[in-house]
Amino acid sequence: MKAGVLSLQGAAREHAVALKKCGAETVFVKHREQLDNLDCLVIPGGESTTIGKLLDRFGLGPALQEFMRSGRAVYGTCAGMILLANKVDGPPQYTLGGMEITVRRNAFGRQRESFEADLEIPVLGRELFRSVFIRAPLIIRTGAGVEVLATYRGRAVATRQGNLLVSSFHPELTDDIRMHAYFLRLAEKKQ
Ligand code: GLN
Repeated sequence: MKAGVLSLQGAAREHAVALKKCGAETVFVKHREQLDNLDCLVIPGGESTTIGKLLDRFGLGPALQEFMRSGRAVYGTCAGMILLANKVDGPPQYTLGGMEITVRRNAFGRQRESFEADLEIPVLGRELFRSVFIRAPLIIRTGAGVEVLATYRGRAVATRQGNLLVSSFHPELTDDIRMHAYFLRLAEKKQ
């Protein structure tokens, strides 16, 4: 399994560490040619407006959209989730789209810009999953075909639609690799 981590901006390194622990070969992706021989891709957290601008500038957007259409798995965390959402509630910004969700950026307000929570994520098993939220977005609407994997205070914070996976939180910032392992299982299935 060859997994890419988009590394235009944001926290790419920790994702690569987690994916390697799960047994995947990992590549940091900066150019569209690198996508060709990948099985799956992680779009990390960072600043979605910045990552979006860089995707646009380097012409990587259409190549990534094609990558998703080919059925290969893509996992967007935090800013990555914003980029994969079909709608962003707020000022217009460049996104890739792909998942039928609407997200709200920085939805937890200033006083709670960063926090941790133990979440129930049934697809990962019984043990709660320690989730780190950093100026995190929230999923405020899920369309048909979107599976809610985890909620926090009644709102969706991790969803899947076909080969696409997103989470508001950063699974790469703890030692628990179950979310990455789940993603690689999705990638193996190839939708
Ligand atoms: N607040 C950032 C954004 O809106 C996301 C933060 C993150 O990725 N940790 O893009």
